[in-house]
Amino acid sequence: MTKDEKYISRCLQLAYNGLCNTAPNPMVGAVIVHHDTIIGEGYHIRCGEAHAEVNAIRSVKDENLLKESTIYVSLEPCSHYGKTPPCADLIIEKRIPKVVIGCMDPFSMVAGRGIEKLRKAGIEVTVGVLEEECRHLIRRFITFHTFKRPYITLKWAESADGFIDMNRTEGKPVILSSPLTSLLAHKKRAEHDAILVGRRTALLDNPSLSTRNWYGTHPLRLVIDKDLTLPRDLELFNGRIRTFVFTRESHHQPNALTTYIPLDFSKDILPQIMEVLYQNKIQSLLVEGGSILLQSFIDSGLWDEAL
Ligand SMILES: [Zn+2]
Repeated sequence: MTKDEKYISRCLQLAYNGLCNTAPNPMVGAVIVHHDTIIGEGYHIRCGEAHAEVNAIRSVKDENLLKESTIYVSLEPCSHYGKTPPCADLIIEKRIPKVVIGCMDPFSMVAGRGIEKLRKAGIEVTVGVLEEECRHLIRRFITFHTFKRPYITLKWAESADGFIDMNRTEGKPVILSSPLTSLLAHKKRAEHDAILVGRRTALLDNPSLSTRNWYGTHPLRLVIDKDLTLPRDLELFNGRIRTFVFTRESHHQPNALTTYIPLDFSKDILPQIMEVLYQNKIQSLLVEGGSILLQSFIDSGLWDEAL
């Protein structure tokens, strides 16, 4: 591993801390190195707050050292005014002479302009260190903007005889999870913007789809209930967490957090759901079953990861 790769690896470690809070922004990490010593570190903690570069620069005790330092950043510094001023401008203003970038920003607002701005200011810029890893880190962001849909993770637990939720002889739901796996399931939920289940899973398992066994916010809950035949006393309809119910016709909202969203069930509903999620800026979707719903995602090629 080269020195540049070592410091970009550290950027990746830092960036990952933002997993649950940066969306719709990408996760980004930054490290400032002076004569082979890290003098500053930062990452993008939360959407709307300071970018990684700003946090890294702020963490440096002796600002005079910046003039002799290199800033490493997992993603190209921004060059446009968003919720915060451009990071490329800050790097120029602080007179940091060298910038090492993991990967270019793939989207129009930045897309090489940050690099161009830095180079025009006389800064030495290296691009593409651990590029694949840096792109992998922001795969949700890339998928969302490229395919105009969330990054989709399918998740199920399966018995050795190939069943995911049913005891065939008794026809009743069987619990396959242990306390540890349910902890992990809740961690996964906290890491996603939304969770989807089909009607049958909602009915048989009566899940609350919350993250009660883990830290973080509850994802948006999604359920398909074409004819609104699900009992209204299910956990999903408790009105405590934002919930979308996909139905055939529009209806009044039963409470402030539950919204009925009409779909055309004479057509494939998955692309319609993807469109709704894209419009609502949902970058990551966890599909928790059941088998028919999971299979329809697989058959449509609409999935990125399976757990
Ligand atoms: Zn920035």
